[in-house]
Amino acid sequence: MHGLDSTRIPPSPRDSMGGGKAGSRLGSVARKVEAFFVVYREHVAWVHALMFLCFLALLAVPPFLPDPPENATPISHFTEFANYVMWGVWFPLVFLSVIFTGRSWCGLLCPMGAASEWANRRGLKRAIPRWISWQGTPIVSFLIVTILGQTVGVRDHPEAIAEVFGGTMAAAILIGYVYGRNKRAWCRHMCPIGLLLGVFSRLGAVQFVPKNKTAGGDVCTEKGLCPTMIDLKRKEESRHCIECFRCVAPEARGGLFLRLRRPGEEVEAIRRHHPNPAEVWFLFLGTGVALGGFLWLTLPLYERLRQTLGEWFLDQGWYWIGTSGPGWLMAVYPERREVFMWLDFLMIVGFMLACMVVLTALLALTTVAAAWLSEKIGGDLDLRKRFVELGYQYAPVAMVSLVIGLGGEMFEILRFAGLDGTGIGYVKGGFFGVGLLWSVFLGYRILARQSVPASRRWLPLGPGVLGSLLVAALWWPAIFAS
Ligand code: SF4
Ligand code: SF4
Repeated sequence: MHGLDSTRIPPSPRDSMGGGKAGSRLGSVARKVEAFFVVYREHVAWVHALMFLCFLALLAVPPFLPDPPENATPISHFTEFANYVMWGVWFPLVFLSVIFTGRSWCGLLCPMGAASEWANRRGLKRAIPRWISWQGTPIVSFLIVTILGQTVGVRDHPEAIAEVFGGTMAAAILIGYVYGRNKRAWCRHMCPIGLLLGVFSRLGAVQFVPKNKTAGGDVCTEKGLCPTMIDLKRKEESRHCIECFRCVAPEARGGLFLRLRRPGEEVEAIRRHHPNPAEVWFLFLGTGVALGGFLWLTLPLYERLRQTLGEWFLDQGWYWIGTSGPGWLMAVYPERREVFMWLDFLMIVGFMLACMVVLTALLALTTVAAAWLSEKIGGDLDLRKRFVELGYQYAPVAMVSLVIGLGGEMFEILRFAGLDGTGIGYVKGGFFGVGLLWSVFLGYRILARQSVPASRRWLPLGPGVLGSLLVAALWWPAIFAS
């Protein structure tokens, strides 16, 4: 095992961290999981290869098939099947799985990350430039992919799925081929999905903990065996860990061990887990842009704005607004009766960005208010640090928003259990309610860490509750749209 001391040591400290019988049981489960993956981790490459082939089939086959008839189902037509797998299974389940198994998707299943690393082993191994390691890079990458997905119609057209996901795969391989030395620069710095999974993995039940921790907090280092460049001895946060198990050697004195924990624990004590302002801003921006991606399809206001803007352009004599642009930038499918014009393109991009700015401003305002009130009644730290800590309270509500809003097809399976649209709406509403309550609970626990007395904690908690309710209200059409 690279660089790990293989001297035998007493049982790992994970038992004492769990506390009591439950902690000991979790410790025992964690040891079994570790033992399994340490034995089989070399074979994970076969899983990656299989996933790569499945991924290719889902992306590359549907564009060459005839369009499905009106009454086609995922069982009767492969294009419908591929669409359902992407949006009804893969998308929601990857996000939900983070709560139970952390970023296991990334380390064990994702063909994109694996292909990037595979290319890296054969590639140029150039130093990772600053434009890649800049904290804003994955945010920009997320915004581009999310907005492009809407303008090309990624949910409706197989060609668009192939473009967006195939393009992301190609970028992952290219970045892997050129940059980094036996590392996953793409996964650490650029992947739009990885950033989301990283934030939500802080809520998850899985953590890899150094056996011998060095103080000083997380840093990114290209030395060492971690593919996502975590300085293993200083690891505090979960977000970059893709659960590859390479740093785990149960019999060794060094390395990391797997610890199972109560979901939400890391966010409650976020000050001990390397809180990051860029991550909080991303949480706000990502929630806003995803909301915009849903609302433009449902809000009558969007149509009115489109009409007004279109007329204004025509009044100016700018007739190009009524023509369509290139197919890689917008949906141009006359045979399916969907042709976007430049007007649609500008409207979708502008509307999504506007939703992003508005929601980000509202969530930031509520968080500033909470941080300010916290200080007034005894909260510690400075305003900026309290802001960052309290920003994390929105993680659960942001996650359920994304799952319901963009992965709503998952709930359609409940029709087989006899539920109609209203019943499914109630299930989604209940699910959303859990996320909302969890957000409020996290806010309460974060305030406790800020030494805000319990008797007055409701005061700074109020803006957080307001922010979560706001997100819920904005996603309301998605919850009951069936
Ligand atoms: S970070 Fe992105 S590319 Fe890397 S393994 Fe995770 S989802 Fe896949
Ligand atoms: S911390 Fe360990 S398990 Fe996590 S990505 Fe790095 S090497 Fe893999």
